[in-house]
Amino acid sequence: MASIEMRNIVKQYGDGFPAVNDVSLDIADGEFMILVGPSGCGKSTLLRMIVGLEDITSGDMVIGGKRVNDLAPRDRNLSMVFQNYALYPHMTVFENIAFPLRLSKMPDDEVRRRVTEASDVLELKEHLDRKPANLSGGQRQRVAMGRAIVRQAEAFLFDEPLSNLDAKLRGQMRTEISRLQRRLGITTVYVTHDQTEAMTLGDRVCVLRKGKIQQVASPRELYEQP
Ligand code: ADP
Ligand code: ADP
Repeated sequence: MASIEMRNIVKQYGDGFPAVNDVSLDIADGEFMILVGPSGCGKSTLLRMIVGLEDITSGDMVIGGKRVNDLAPRDRNLSMVFQNYALYPHMTVFENIAFPLRLSKMPDDEVRRRVTEASDVLELKEHLDRKPANLSGGQRQRVAMGRAIVRQAEAFLFDEPLSNLDAKLRGQMRTEISRLQRRLGITTVYVTHDQTEAMTLGDRVCVLRKGKIQQVASPRELYEQP
């Protein structure tokens, strides 16, 4: 687990208007932070700079007390959970969860121990031999989160993970993500367009507009103003 501190973060693509323009934001250890704002306001760019998929033009990105501006994504120990879950269809649930550990050449018994532990937390124990095609949307999302858990990632980053789902499944997934995040207590940054997601999931909501922070507030302050 780790805090994420952004100090005067700027992202300039080419010579246009900065996509992210002097953003300073502290996300506490274990906090669930939501990023909202109109399309093009810089949400994805900010998320990608946290993960390291995008260079930072200026400012400091500090994760767990350590400046990470120059660290490659694999050295940041964060986990991005994508919209489509990015599961490997030909691999079992076990191998999907184990995948990042295999990449790091972890010994088999340690891989088995960690995957077993994660699948216990995620209630996937019965499904370890299945392929993703035979899982529900909710179970797939849990597999994706399992990957983050086995790596002992310090934070979860979500980029509109539910936007392709129908309303019913979206509701289930909201509950699922909320339950897991509370249980794991892991720092989370979550981009969404959806006010219900922002309200039910977020400890705080950061509203971006044209690359700047317009407001940071609790969901209640933001959405239940008289
Ligand atoms: P959001 O996620 O809030 O929709 P983005 O972070 O995707 O916003 O985009 C912020 C701004 O940066 C937009 O004006 C977008 O066109 C621009 N932008 C995003 N990615 C790139 C890129 N790779 N090259 C040039 N401009 C980009
Ligand atoms: P979203 O609407 O989900 O925020 P976009 O459709 O804006 O995503 O962007 C999709 C991809 O295109 C992203 O990888 C982003 O970096 C890139 N992109 C966005 N705007 C630009 C741009 N003006 N120039 C180049 N690439 C861009």
